[in-house]
Amino acid sequence: MGALCTVLLTSCISSSAPGQASLNNTLAPTEVPRIASLTDGVWLKGDLHVHSRHSKESTNNPVEKIIAFSKSVGMDYLCITDHDNHVNGDVAHHTWADPEFKSDSVLLLYGAEWTTTRGHGNPFSAKPYDHQRLYDVRDQRDVVIGEVKKELGIHLSANHPSGKDHFGYSYDMLESIEVWNSVLWSKNANAIMIWDDMLSSGRKLTGRGGSDAHHGTPDTPDKATENSRQAKANYVGTPTTWVYAKDRTSQAVVDALTNGRVCISANPYAPRVEFYADIDQDGNADMMMGDNTKSTGKPVKFHIQLTGNTVSEVSYTVNVVKNGNKFGTFQATGKTPTVEFTDTPETLGRTYYRIVVEGPPTAYPQVPESMTLSENMVGLSNPIYFNFDPNF
Ligand SMILES: [Zn+2]
Ligand SMILES: [Zn+2]
Repeated sequence: MGALCTVLLTSCISSSAPGQASLNNTLAPTEVPRIASLTDGVWLKGDLHVHSRHSKESTNNPVEKIIAFSKSVGMDYLCITDHDNHVNGDVAHHTWADPEFKSDSVLLLYGAEWTTTRGHGNPFSAKPYDHQRLYDVRDQRDVVIGEVKKELGIHLSANHPSGKDHFGYSYDMLESIEVWNSVLWSKNANAIMIWDDMLSSGRKLTGRGGSDAHHGTPDTPDKATENSRQAKANYVGTPTTWVYAKDRTSQAVVDALTNGRVCISANPYAPRVEFYADIDQDGNADMMMGDNTKSTGKPVKFHIQLTGNTVSEVSYTVNVVKNGNKFGTFQATGKTPTVEFTDTPETLGRTYYRIVVEGPPTAYPQVPESMTLSENMVGLSNPIYFNFDPNF
């Protein structure tokens, strides 16, 4: 019966909607999860896609250098994602066993780049998992891979889903998608389109970033390679993925990624986009990006805020996307630029809203050439969801 109700969730929802006073308390947990606290948490920033010397095409990028750099620019977490095919899937004895794979301040996630002929993906885990098993089933059917992935208890994410090495597996196996790969913002348009397609089809899929940086700054000039100049244009933090985590632990970072309380900034110093909704219009936010509830048919007040090093005296362009289409464009200025808008999500059917912020780039002195390449992209939010089936 639970399954039937899941299938018929929309009608289950609408039949109980009229006259409902409290949005969350009357719902069965299987219908819409209770919205987690909006204040009992911490914003953490990091990079989810970086290659060290354990990836063969990487240069001047030992693990220690990546971690030290991450710490120097204030990163809270990091996932080094070396190509598993370079070590026949044996990440545990390479990247993770590297004596340099440790930090007293940066939370290190366990991951790798699942590098297959059907595309690339990143598993994320707070603890070591048997990556070899995922590697070994890479050429099997999705239904087999999905079972292994479930047994491993990992978060799985599509990398650079369009174009070269596009992601060809089922999106049903995923928790997230890399919608902003590397500093070259312009090449991500197709990834954004795929994301909107997946969201529109009912998948609650987190959008995340990843620099995909392979090359570090050479320690001495004679160590330079033809790719060394990339270190000045695309490195850890271009872009930066923010998560609103329950606490400062690796597990909380992975959970936040899964839950979608995530936004992406052009670099670690650029402001982050926070996106909230006040469902009962009492002046207090009831949900934030990544959260899902059901529509009451009443208007909802949305609040967007840029937090951090905003460039003063300039105007940011805040674009609201509703169900994959442009909903509105607003201008925001000041030390903490904010935008508010009101809309009524459909009572029947799904609705999502997400935010794209454009404006002046924020300086990233450690990666000085990144500013021109990320163009005027400042940040992306994840969606706020209405009437999404959490069991989809
Ligand atoms: Zn890749
Ligand atoms: Zn990569």
